[in-house]
Amino acid sequence: MAKSTRRTFLSASAAAAVAGVAAPSSASASATACAASARAAEHRTFPPDRELRAILRAVDSERIEAIVRKLVSFGTRHTLSAQDDPMRGIGAARDWIFAELRRYAAASGGRMTVEKQSFIQPVAARIPVPTPITNVVATLRGSVTPERIYVVTGHYDSRVTDVMDATSDAPGADDDASGVAVVMELARVMATHRPEATIVFAAVAGEEQGLYGSDYLAQSFKSAGADIQGMFSDDIVGTGNAYDGTREDPRTVRLFVEGVPTAETAAEANVRRSVGGENDGPSRQLGRFVAEVADGPHTGMHVRVIWRRDRYLRGSDHISFLLRGYPAARFTEPRENFNHEHQDVRVVAGVQYGDLIEFCDFDYIARVARVNAAALWSLAQAPGTPRNVVIDTTQLTNETTLRWQLGSEPDLAGYEVVWRETTAPDWTHSLAVGKVATVTIDLSKDNVFFGVRAIDARGHRSPAAPPRPSS
Ligand SMILES: [Zn+2]
Repeated sequence: MAKSTRRTFLSASAAAAVAGVAAPSSASASATACAASARAAEHRTFPPDRELRAILRAVDSERIEAIVRKLVSFGTRHTLSAQDDPMRGIGAARDWIFAELRRYAAASGGRMTVEKQSFIQPVAARIPVPTPITNVVATLRGSVTPERIYVVTGHYDSRVTDVMDATSDAPGADDDASGVAVVMELARVMATHRPEATIVFAAVAGEEQGLYGSDYLAQSFKSAGADIQGMFSDDIVGTGNAYDGTREDPRTVRLFVEGVPTAETAAEANVRRSVGGENDGPSRQLGRFVAEVADGPHTGMHVRVIWRRDRYLRGSDHISFLLRGYPAARFTEPRENFNHEHQDVRVVAGVQYGDLIEFCDFDYIARVARVNAAALWSLAQAPGTPRNVVIDTTQLTNETTLRWQLGSEPDLAGYEVVWRETTAPDWTHSLAVGKVATVTIDLSKDNVFFGVRAIDARGHRSPAAPPRPSS
């Protein structure tokens, strides 16, 4: 592998490659000058391709409203509520979601399949008797690399003040009919498209009782050896207005991404402590990617990336995937009104409590759906995240040699090396290095953080993979 090492110097033409819009070319990688002439790029975004623009246009806030209204109409969707009542309870919601997703799948030319993934949750915290829990899962099979999978979830169960109260009205409009509406609308819109990788759209249950549905889903993937390269939980994405007198923020969605991986091993922790890396876990890379492809005028949204696994005292279904070592993140609205979450529907001293549909903004939910669409489509169309990226540490030098495994995607055009100062939050420099599996750059590995990303013939870029030491 080392035989094909290319020594790369940074120059004015390399600085041009920093803009990242130029097609990958080995010419830019063999430019001759010194690193001092490279300059930092502005933080930039990648524009949507033509097909993504069509997908974004097709997302329909009226359909999203209809989905949220239907889910609220089941009265309660508590995990312990009726499973066999056709009108009220989680069973009615489950069957409606299943039928609706099957309707969308009918337009997919056989590429989308829909299943009820059911299991009996044994007695556990917040589960007093063995209880059937059902995830409704639509899978849009990838047309080129179907084994590479991206997942988006919303949870269709709901709750009130007492988490064991399975009979009171629990509309769960924001938490989390909004997220289910995002998932379902994306399934509808994408069913007629052909993503290169597989996208899974899942309405999960048991979230409020303890993430049971997503735990089962994530474990099923893990047990099957599934290659999940990104997962998003959309949970409480109903409005940019907290209805508490504070200023609205309808053009922002938060994305929570952890730093140190939840599933980090002791050996990985040792490496991280020795060379840094607490800000370079796979979920952080996913967060950077989403900001690059989903923040902007094409979605009408600012993605406020927050470097935490989740909010204080709260969690969501992405944690089930983080526990299995999959990159995962959570979308949620910019500012919450806790009177509207996990509350009995009631008025106290003139204050309305409860997760009511009147507090949802369907145009806002549609914009969140567009953010998800941009992220998922861009992930699925790009090559997979590079594998086995290492930084050569066999000898002490003031330059950097990176190696990785050459991807097998048929439209793979090459790679870019990205880097930033150790104190910088996001990638500031990129350099196209061609379709190679190793490169040497005249920058000291001690002074910056590096990543490698793959790029295809049409300019789609993968998330960056940070290198681990080779020894
Ligand atoms: Zn929730």
